[in-house]
Amino acid sequence: MEINITHYTPYETVMRAIRFSHASLGRLDSKENKLGPNDKKLLYLVIEQGHHSVLEHFVYTFEVEGVSRAFLQEFVRHRHISLTVQSTRFALKKLLKTNALDDLLVVPCTDPEVPQRYFELYYRNITEQNLKQLEYIKSHIQELPNDVLKYLLPEAFKTAFVATTNARELGHLIELRHKENVLCEFRRFAIELFEKLYEIHPELWEMLRGWYKWDF
Ligand SMILES: Cc1cc2nc3c(=O)[nH]c(=O)nc-3n(C[C@H](O)[C@H](O)[C@H](O)COP(=O)(O)OP(=O)(O)OC[C@H]3O[C@@H](n4cnc5c(N)ncnc54)[C@H](O)[C@@H]3O)c2cc1C
Repeated sequence: MEINITHYTPYETVMRAIRFSHASLGRLDSKENKLGPNDKKLLYLVIEQGHHSVLEHFVYTFEVEGVSRAFLQEFVRHRHISLTVQSTRFALKKLLKTNALDDLLVVPCTDPEVPQRYFELYYRNITEQNLKQLEYIKSHIQELPNDVLKYLLPEAFKTAFVATTNARELGHLIELRHKENVLCEFRRFAIELFEKLYEIHPELWEMLRGWYKWDF
């Protein structure tokens, strides 16, 4: 799985919006995505008070590759995310022709990691079954259109998408999806996404970690 944040709102844009509401534009001290000390106090205050609508001004666009369609159908349940997904209609034949088939499959994970003997018994079998399915699709690639072939795709088939959303929605998503009762692939995604967001806005995501009481 790869997550690549390609665009984000710098601190100063969001802090301007928050300072509009407080009539304190003169105290704005963030610049070039570095959060100033005055702005840090104000941001902390609004988060602690639960005024999280201001977090909607932090907008992120990110690309995700190498996740399963099983993951995608859970991800799309989050309704405040704008999405562009790799099209099977346009891309399926190209993907099957240009890639090794086992590169097109996500191997299921479990949390905690399953013992090796179970992996040998079941997980390798699942992947082998999925590979057979892809081989079958490939052998019918000339006769059938992508729109028909896609009905044969396993849930483990890799997909890719671009998403745009805001910090409020991402905080909510990470809160729901980092827990142990969640699909392992989604849990790993949530934690990796948090790490990427933290690289861009460390103070913001540290404050949200405290607000939600995340233990990672
Ligand atoms: C462990 C787990 C198991 C799950 N199991 C199932 C399952 O078995 N079956 C299933 O169908 N789904 C399942 N889900 C998906 C779950 O029901 C939600 O659809 C998904 O987590 C999105 O959550 P959300 O609606 O809070 O968030 P989002 O869609 O991301 O929305 C964020 C918030 O915006 C607000 N909001 C969004 N849309 C509306 C609206 N129309 N009206 C009012 N407020 C709105 C709500 O406050 C919401 O919490 C599961 C999720 C988890 C984490």
